[in-house]
Amino acid sequence: MSTLKEYYDTQNVFAKILRNEIPCSKIYEDEFTLAFHDIAPKAPVHALVITKNPYISFADFSKRAAPEEMVAVTKAIGVVAAKLGLKENGYRITSNIGHNSGQEVPHFHFHIMGGRPMGIIG
Ligand code: AMP
Repeated sequence: MSTLKEYYDTQNVFAKILRNEIPCSKIYEDEFTLAFHDIAPKAPVHALVITKNPYISFADFSKRAAPEEMVAVTKAIGVVAAKLGLKENGYRITSNIGHNSGQEVPHFHFHIMGGRPMGIIG
């Protein structure tokens, strides 16, 4: 069970990736975002788009992020999906928020998953 803190934990794994303390398999980067392959893919294609700024989750991001950062994340998802060849057959984006979602890494990120039919949510 994940225990998520109220404050941003600078020792979370994505913070370490952003500080180049641990490697990632980078797909895309811009001023506000970094995208890389998930280390334990749950689909044939499974990428993560994370913010460079420290937000705990989408809830935190939606409250505090500047509009240009929100645009950047939205656009990055589209760019990464296209780069990974997911446009034709489609894909799923997901962002887990807090305990009930099963969020493991307390740094805001979107999952991009595809490469097979993803099934019905529910
Ligand atoms: P979530 O449960 O939404 O917080 O998802 C966290 C995701 O991060 C999981 O799919 C993990 O497989 C992935 N992950 C954890 N550590 C790494 C890492 N070092 N590099 C890439 N992906 C990672």
